Amino acid sequence: MREKFSQDKLDRCISCGYCLPACPTYKLTGNEESSPRGRITLMRAVQNDKLPALDLLQESSFCLGCRACEPVCPAGVEYGVLLEEMRDITWQGKNRPLIIRGLFAIVDSKIGMWGLGLFSPMARRREANKDLHLMYGCFERRLFPSVSRAVAKLAPEVSCSSDQGCCGALHAHNGELEKGKEMAKALGAKLPGTILTTAGGCAAHLSSVIGADRVQEFSQWWFKRDIELKPITKAGRKIRVGLQDSCHLRNGMGVFVEPREILKQLGDLVEVPGAADCCGAAGSYALLQKKNSRKVVSQKIADIKALNLDYIATVNPGCTRQLVTELRRARVKTKVIHLAELVANSQIQ
Ligand code: SF4
Ligand code: SF4
Repeated sequence: MREKFSQDKLDRCISCGYCLPACPTYKLTGNEESSPRGRITLMRAVQNDKLPALDLLQESSFCLGCRACEPVCPAGVEYGVLLEEMRDITWQGKNRPLIIRGLFAIVDSKIGMWGLGLFSPMARRREANKDLHLMYGCFERRLFPSVSRAVAKLAPEVSCSSDQGCCGALHAHNGELEKGKEMAKALGAKLPGTILTTAGGCAAHLSSVIGADRVQEFSQWWFKRDIELKPITKAGRKIRVGLQDSCHLRNGMGVFVEPREILKQLGDLVEVPGAADCCGAAGSYALLQKKNSRKVVSQKIADIKALNLDYIATVNPGCTRQLVTELRRARVKTKVIHLAELVANSQIQ
């Protein structure tokens, strides 16, 4: 019988507790069981048949999956993989949230994917470099199609191919781990060479399955091009701009210097306190755990307001959506914009 969890990954945890202060759900509750160490203890109990698997349901939903516990862990525990395995055994059948079932239904069908792009003019399809393909992203094509258009404008050498499926990150993070991996492999086969993505979450999932050498997140890719950018000005001064890190890009792939270096060329970069902390979007979390998601983002919104920024740049569509919603709710005028769009704005000034 297949083990519920990867035993070698469970064994790595030495229960030191260094991860506790980094964990947003531990900060919210102060409860050990809502910390990475506490959740790993629960997983071990389930692995050893001392606890029914469904006793993990609450924590598997409460955990953001932000992986802030990984970079601070001295033992190199791959908590993100353990969480995927936890949801794989708990979010099955009637325990899978309805919203997740709906999202799966959309991205699993050709019509659903086609519908996401309907009325959202993305970057036009074109064949350029057969070894460099722009990935549209499922929900980014619906919510923020201007991001793919910005990349296409910046880089005529990038191919934009038709008939792209989902990369499977949605599935892997929400209880369909194997299917999520299969989808990543299928997309890798469909888009040969390097896949360029503007979504940190997709980049982390894709690279974990098809290899980091095949995947470039926008800021990684643009930074390497070493193209000088013109500063963007507003009322005769350089813009004040902050960054919201993407959790999976930063904690999963270690990419956080590149977007900052790009922003320094575009304006006055202001480091937002807790920029590395999760914004509460966390994939489907903002839809499933609205109240907790708002608790997680509340301090960030207050900080952005106090800094009086012109722009807050993002590198993942989930973060864009969350910040647009919450800044609007708080009546903060700072504009949320994807880094690729800001770079494109600089080029046309
Ligand atoms: S920091 Fe790592 S080793 Fe220490 S308790 Fe947390 S997960 Fe376990
Ligand atoms: S993924 Fe985030 S919320 Fe979950 S245990 Fe790790 S730090 Fe805490």
